Amino acid sequence: MDVDVLIVGGGISGLSVARWLAQRGVTVELWERAAAPGGVIGTRRAGGYAMETGASLMLNFRPEVTAFIEQSGLASRKLALRSDAPRFVVQRGMLAQVPTRLGSLAFTPFWSHCGRLRLLAEPLIPRGGDEAETASAFVARRPGREALEKVFEPMLASTFGCDPDRAQARAVLPRLTALEQRFGSIAVGVFARKLRRQAAPAMEMFSFKGGMQSLVDALAMNSGARLRTNCAAAVLAREPDGWRVRGRTDEGERCLRARHVVLSVPAVEAAGLLDANDPDLAALIGGLEYAPLAVAHLGFERAAIEHRLDGMGFLVPRAENRTLLGCQWSGGVLAERAPGGKVLLSAYLGGARAAQVADWDEATIAEAALGQLAPLLGLRDAPETTHVVRHARGLPLYHGNHLHRVRDVRERLRRWPGLHIAANYPDGVSTRDRIVSGHGVAREICGQREARGATI
Ligand SMILES: Cc1cc2nc3c(=O)[nH]c(=O)nc-3n(C[C@H](O)[C@H](O)[C@H](O)COP(=O)(O)OP(=O)(O)OC[C@H]3O[C@@H](n4cnc5c(N)ncnc54)[C@H](O)[C@@H]3O)c2cc1C
Repeated sequence: MDVDVLIVGGGISGLSVARWLAQRGVTVELWERAAAPGGVIGTRRAGGYAMETGASLMLNFRPEVTAFIEQSGLASRKLALRSDAPRFVVQRGMLAQVPTRLGSLAFTPFWSHCGRLRLLAEPLIPRGGDEAETASAFVARRPGREALEKVFEPMLASTFGCDPDRAQARAVLPRLTALEQRFGSIAVGVFARKLRRQAAPAMEMFSFKGGMQSLVDALAMNSGARLRTNCAAAVLAREPDGWRVRGRTDEGERCLRARHVVLSVPAVEAAGLLDANDPDLAALIGGLEYAPLAVAHLGFERAAIEHRLDGMGFLVPRAENRTLLGCQWSGGVLAERAPGGKVLLSAYLGGARAAQVADWDEATIAEAALGQLAPLLGLRDAPETTHVVRHARGLPLYHGNHLHRVRDVRERLRRWPGLHIAANYPDGVSTRDRIVSGHGVAREICGQREARGATI
């Protein structure tokens, strides 16, 4: 064998597996098709602005992710956002602040009287048990329809790009559905944990000095893997004790034998590599739907925007009938995203709700973003900088009985020893979930090596 593990794909999924394996002393080579690692994550710089191409923030509550970031040398580069920073949603064409404190429930005009009572009645709702229940049905059944329309739908549409009427609750709201299963109610579960002093681990929201690019750069530098960019895996063939992988590089073909192969590429690429070995597995993975996402970065003089831009941005519920999913602005700890006296607005468009964005060119995307932002934020002038990022397949959609499909994929994968998947289509799209899932795959590989008696 040329190497213990070959990882195909150098996004956060592949880089995380590499880093976790390197900590265990396993020899790893990583192939990335593009000229640089990072996948959808990256920070572009122009005119003093720092613009994220993909993930812009990490939301973390997992201790292993905290440790991973520290061990990757990134703890001192973290820029943590205040957890109580104001958040807004659009309501009837205007920005409304979302109440985050329980104490304000009785007074805030955000909730109608019925919505407020329905929230308070959540502990009285009987436990559900349908594994295939949609996110909409789950939220409407527990905290109520108003909570769905004002809070959960816009949150799920922006973080998963999904349509909650079609997304599986247990796939996109795993913590809340687990609380219901365990305690019969979300509120009772949170309260019971507090009583037992099992408060959920602290939730942190952060980026890094230098943007999310710092995360992928640090991982690429410290991964311990032999990293080959401009190297696209093209053919995957099973051998008695591992895999032979052929790839295309600028210099010609590269062929490598590895005991384990980790596919950290989007579903359609994985399906292409698997098709010759297992067409059924390839069809299961290749059949996954994706939603397009576009980001319009717009740089303004601060004086050109009327809104006070406190907090970090806003989300847009579907009732507002817009292609805009939400917008983030620079400021506070994220002030470094714009030069002094200026502001960067990053508008997100598309998702399952507005799939037509996939067919739009950059000028149309920028125009649509500006048209929707202008009345919400009081834009008085044109942006001095415009930069649009398009992702035709932005996020995999956890629609239908997603967990059933994932179980089928894992079952089928057992027929192929040494083949692993670490990517955002089975088990979580967030950067946090990518690091957690990378840990799982690294442990699986180390476990199999130990069982074979390989020295680690
Ligand atoms: C616009 C946008 C905003 C987001 N915002 C957030 C956010 O704020 N917070 C958050 O936590 N998450 C966010 N996400 C989600 C998160 O960024 C992604 O789910 C995650 O980065 C995906 O990482 P990945 O490594 O699985 O896939 P990718 O990043 O897609 O990486 C796959 C890599 O495989 C390579 N590749 C493909 N085919 C081959 C081949 N044949 N051979 C070799 N290499 C190949 C590709 O070039 C690519 O580099 C966002 C996503 C998008 C699109």
